Formats: sequence, C-alpha cells, structure tokens
Amino acid sequence: MRIDVVSIFGEYLQPLQLSLIGKAQRQGLIELRVHDLRDFTHDRHRTVDDTPYGGGAGLLMKPEPWGEALDAILADPPAGLSAEQAERGPVLLVPSPVGEVFRQERAHALAEEPWLVFACGRYEGIDARVVEHYASRIRVQEVSLGDYVLNGGEVAVLVVVEAVARLLPGVVGNAASLAEESHAAEHDGLLEHPAYTKPASWRGLDVPAVLAGGHHGQVARWRRDEALRRTARRRPDVVAALPESATDAADRAV
Ligand code: SAM
Repeated sequence: MRIDVVSIFGEYLQPLQLSLIGKAQRQGLIELRVHDLRDFTHDRHRTVDDTPYGGGAGLLMKPEPWGEALDAILADPPAGLSAEQAERGPVLLVPSPVGEVFRQERAHALAEEPWLVFACGRYEGIDARVVEHYASRIRVQEVSLGDYVLNGGEVAVLVVVEAVARLLPGVVGNAASLAEESHAAEHDGLLEHPAYTKPASWRGLDVPAVLAGGHHGQVARWRRDEALRRTARRRPDVVAALPESATDAADRAV
C-alpha cells in the first residue's frame, strides 16, 4: 500500500516509523511518503493560510498550494497498479470534524485499497473548494475521529493509518487475533469480552473459573455472554443495530 500525507507538520508522522507500522515499511508492505505543503507555495514566506471570506476568527488554508500538492501526488502513482486501479486513483482522506466518524468497517474497506492520500488541515481547516474539486476527479472521504475538535489532521492520520495498516496481510503476526477483537465483523461488531492472563489470583481478584476449566464450548459461551452484556451496557447503539440473524436463542437469553 502506498500512503501519501500532505501536512505542514510532517514531524507529527514520525511515530509511524515505530513498532509494527515501521516494520511494515521496512518490509515493503507499506510505502509512506510525507509531503510538506509549504513546498507548493511560491512566496518568500511560504504562505499556506489567509483570512476567511465573510469574516470570522482564525485563518483558512488557501486552495492553491493544496491543488499543486495533490496534483503532483496524483501525477506520480505507485508502480504496479492495474489499469482499473490507475483509472480509479487513490482515496483522498480529509480529516475533519465535519466528516463521517471513522469506524472499523471503513478501516477494512481502506485496507483493500492500494493507494491512500491524506490532506491534513490546520488553522480553521482547508478552503472548501479543495474537497469539491477533488471529489469531481477521485474518491474523497472526509473522516472524523469523533465529536471534538483537534488542532490538525495529523493525529487523525496516525489513527487511520494504524487502524488500516494492521489489517494488511503480514503486518500483525497472528492474523487470527484480528478476528477476535472489539468491532470485528466475526463477532457481530460487539465489544470484546473481558480478558485475563496469569496469575489466576491478583489482589483478591480471581480469574473467572470457567476460563481455566478447559471446556472450549463453555469458554466460548462465557465470552459471548460477556461481550453481549458489556456492549449492551456501554454501546446500546451497537446492540440495537444487531440484525436478528446475528443472535440466537442463547444470546437473547443474556
Ligand atoms: N473549523 C473547523 C470546524 O469547526 O469544523 C475545525 C478546524 S480544526 C481546528 C483544524 C483541523 O484539525 C481540521 O482541518 C482537521 O484536519 C483536524 N481535525 C479537527 N478535529 C478533527 C476531528 N474530530 N477529526 C478529524 N480531524 C480533525
């Protein structure tokens, strides 16, 4: 997968050199390119922002450097794309509090893509014509991390890249662990059950006996029940959205 990120604070992306994502880059599973938006300006001060039309507090990012940066990236696609992939181009991800909230389903969909481009806003965001223009040329998705406001899109890139990259074959050592997590489709999108390791007793708290009993069926039932209870308590919206077909009589008895 090729990942291009345009930002005025490329140093923010340094953590992507660490741990599994860093290793995936060294193994050639991911190619990360970080571009400085200011390299696409033409004035002495390398200006990327200006005052908003209509007035108001703060500054907005100007469209021209974005147009030049994104056009340069689009003109340099990754090698080895099929004709169809080249025709479709990358998915342009624009982190924004006005975007759709980023979820595991989207991480899975993005993990199927060979090429992602991220546009990191700063200040009060990016001139709205940038999204409008590129949406007429390629697939554009405005993504939000949640209902709060950050200073810039870089943190969102760290989050989205980590969630997507760990789904790529070979990035996480034991692929089976991906199916045994919160939000996994294999478990109907439920939150994960509580999990324990050794010792069996710690500060007066004991690991539930069923987990040490060696009875796989009982362990699976306990985990499913706990996942259902936990999800119902913390995320009733997830339980409410479960299709009838995802639950059986034993589930409904929880
Ligand atoms: N004026 C914008 C608004 O009210 O919707 C907020 C701009 S914010 C201060 C600057 C940048 O931070 C945004 O362009 C975006 O890249 C990023 N950002 C802020 N909150 C975000 C969120 N919840 N999810 C993703 N990106 C966010």
